[in-house]
Amino acid sequence: MRILVIEDEVKIAGAVKRGLEIHGYAVDMVHDGDTGYAYAGSDDYDLIVLDRMLPGMDGITVCEKLRDDGIHTPVLMLTARGTIGDKVDGLNSGADDYLVKPFSFDELSARVRALLRRPQVSTGTVLKVDNLEFDPITFTASRAGQPIKLSHKEFLLLEYFMHHAGQVITKDSLISHIWNEDADILPNTVEVYIGYLRTKIDRAFPKEKPLLHTRRGFGYVLGITGGN
Ligand code: CA
Repeated sequence: MRILVIEDEVKIAGAVKRGLEIHGYAVDMVHDGDTGYAYAGSDDYDLIVLDRMLPGMDGITVCEKLRDDGIHTPVLMLTARGTIGDKVDGLNSGADDYLVKPFSFDELSARVRALLRRPQVSTGTVLKVDNLEFDPITFTASRAGQPIKLSHKEFLLLEYFMHHAGQVITKDSLISHIWNEDADILPNTVEVYIGYLRTKIDRAFPKEKPLLHTRRGFGYVLGITGGN
């Protein structure tokens, strides 16, 4: 698997390259948008890690141009900002996933693996668990075809669970991924929001199988076989 890293912050680019190489990927690295666009179009990469803010052509433009050229290599966009608008811009430009800086290498590596596992022809960005669907571009969720209205925090929570379906997610991990900009979040706050989300995706659909499960002492699992 060959990965192209387009990132102007040389330290970050170098760390990403070394980390991916340890995991057995071949990695090429460039530091500006124009060179990145030329590389991405001229060589056969399995994945592109693309910074959003770049000298020359910015990441959004690089991604749009690649998609216009018919190049559908999965793109993981790095963004320094984590607002909804930035995510929408990134995903609308044709990126397949995004990661907000600062990120842990473990998370980058997990996203890279997930993108490489996807079928080569993209079927869109809608995430599905059973009959629960989540569209990160339109910011809509639905279950059995019925739209679900979510608050901003519930949306972020569900998005995180959808990306990690079937995995046990601890409260600590939810706090650091969903609430990292807020101070003094209590584990109780997480429980309250899990309760809101469960009401909307499970309790509102009594005929469907519950999807959001509590693993006492461990955390939460989104999936059809979460158990107890
Ligand atoms: Ca940058």
